[in-house]
Amino acid sequence: MLKVEGLRAGYGAVNILWDIAFHVNDGEIVSILGSNGAGKTTMVRTITGMIRPSAGSVNFNGEELARHNSRYVLDKGIVQVPEGRQLFTEMTVLENLEMGAFNKQTREHFADNLRVVYQWFPKLEERARQAAGTLSGGEQQMVAVARALIGMPKLLILDEPSLGLAPNIVDDILNVASTLVRNDGISVLLVEQDITKALACADRGYVIENGHIALEGTAEELAANEHVKKAYLGI
Ligand code: ATP
Repeated sequence: MLKVEGLRAGYGAVNILWDIAFHVNDGEIVSILGSNGAGKTTMVRTITGMIRPSAGSVNFNGEELARHNSRYVLDKGIVQVPEGRQLFTEMTVLENLEMGAFNKQTREHFADNLRVVYQWFPKLEERARQAAGTLSGGEQQMVAVARALIGMPKLLILDEPSLGLAPNIVDDILNVASTLVRNDGISVLLVEQDITKALACADRGYVIENGHIALEGTAEELAANEHVKKAYLGI
């Protein structure tokens, strides 16, 4: 469903991504792994149309998206949960969720989808009228995931969902992602620094180092790889 080839991008004159290539099949969870500053978020921003690449292709279900803007990419069904959540903290939980319904189709299905996300995250229904900024970090991450689901993604991109959260909350969020893949046939691109957690739920993965894809393989292959073990798992 997603095929990225030869992707180069950066900020002004500084190039960060060098010929990035990877793909995500229908119904797959693919993880992009890498440490601080490796280029993961830059890659997500380039795929979602926030950064214009200087070279390469982002093919989604047969359509070239690389030079379209983020609104267009969103309309095609690539929805991201951004790093740091980026909620409207003064607005209520419900108002944040309403922001996820960004076009006619998602607005038409909003009531049904709201019921579904409240089943996933019952806390959010209890807190619907509370300002999002007053929630705990874990609850805020749930709002960010729920908002993305209201956008009816075909490909859901999770950018570092584990950042600053307790392990059990990260597990809850990754469980929701796994169930969505199994039951609803969506695909997930999981960008993570927590390699153990990412490999536990991903089908395949890619390791990004200094803006290059350094390694790729199934989750099992990467977990058994000597470089991954030494550089990322400390074993
Ligand atoms: P982290 O896990 O810390 O978020 P990352 O793998 O997502 O890291 P990026 O945020 O993509 O890495 O950063 C890759 C490189 O791009 C870093 O060297 C960073 O300093 C640089 N960079 C990121 N954002 C900008 C920006 N807006 N302007 C200039 N350089 C940037």
